[in-house]
Amino acid sequence: MIADFAWIRAEPHGIHVIPADCWIDPSQPVANALVTHGHGDHARGGHGRTIATPATLAIMELRYETREGAMPVEYGETVRLPGEVDVTYIPAGHVLGSAQIVFDHAGERVIVTGDYKRRPDPTCPPFEVTACDVFITEATFGLPVFCHPPIEEEIGKLLHRLTVDPGRCVLVGAYALGKAQRVIAELRRAGHHDAIFIHGALERMCRLYEDFGIDLGELRLATGASKDELRGRIVIAPPSALNDRWTRRLPDPVTAMASGWMRVRQRARQQNVELPLVISDHADWGELTRTIREVDPAETWITHGREEALLRWCQLNQRRARALALVGYEDEDD
Ligand SMILES: [Zn+2]
Ligand SMILES: [Zn+2]
Repeated sequence: MIADFAWIRAEPHGIHVIPADCWIDPSQPVANALVTHGHGDHARGGHGRTIATPATLAIMELRYETREGAMPVEYGETVRLPGEVDVTYIPAGHVLGSAQIVFDHAGERVIVTGDYKRRPDPTCPPFEVTACDVFITEATFGLPVFCHPPIEEEIGKLLHRLTVDPGRCVLVGAYALGKAQRVIAELRRAGHHDAIFIHGALERMCRLYEDFGIDLGELRLATGASKDELRGRIVIAPPSALNDRWTRRLPDPVTAMASGWMRVRQRARQQNVELPLVISDHADWGELTRTIREVDPAETWITHGREEALLRWCQLNQRRARALALVGYEDEDD
């Protein structure tokens, strides 16, 4: 029976840090929220006070048009909360602004990862491994079948398709926060410097990334471009636009989708995806287990995804672990 670390508790709508009366990524409005990153299942409006990195706060402002009660904290900066709780935000490598939150209280350290990955990403600083007593990890891709390929391979497939079908365009479905900008930045890193066309729904988030110093090269709006201008080009749109009438303006698009779920063929078929790209902003099974080994906590708490397999892995490896039952976390950001 786990009775230690009673000052931090998993409730259905978030993780509660009791002495400071604050909540991590709460799914309901609270007085004091600590937000790991800007995805909709973690960052919500309506809190009294919101502590997050400057980039996460800017993303939240863009999405909820409110900045009330925003309290920025830089990576590595420590803030003292009521109840003698020290809190430090360190990079999680997931999307721009994403952070793990480190809590120090009464000689104990707890880290909440939020969503994270271990692969390099040109749009955000890498995940930092930090020792702690309790490690609260996500488990979105917490099954051994999930092994993300190197992103260079997937970007290579995308660029190859463009040359094979020069009369068509390749339409890539990518989440508006994080995935779209990472795909663009990786295309640039691979030497693709042509204009990339974007759906209007991505414009403001791409500009925000650029305001934070992420160079995305030449971006143009797909709306208003002629079919001829779009031949042989890459068009990036949110996944919801892949099968809607908006695509009629495109010249015979090859439909691609950038998501960790593209590992599952059935998902690609369901979404009519011709070119599945296995590109994820989450840790895969190998990264989840490696990270637990490297952090080497006394206890691992597992949330946000497929908890059971990772729980079993911990047990088989003589690690104390438990699954948390939180509600309200969906796959906005895979
Ligand atoms: Zn998430
Ligand atoms: Zn996320």
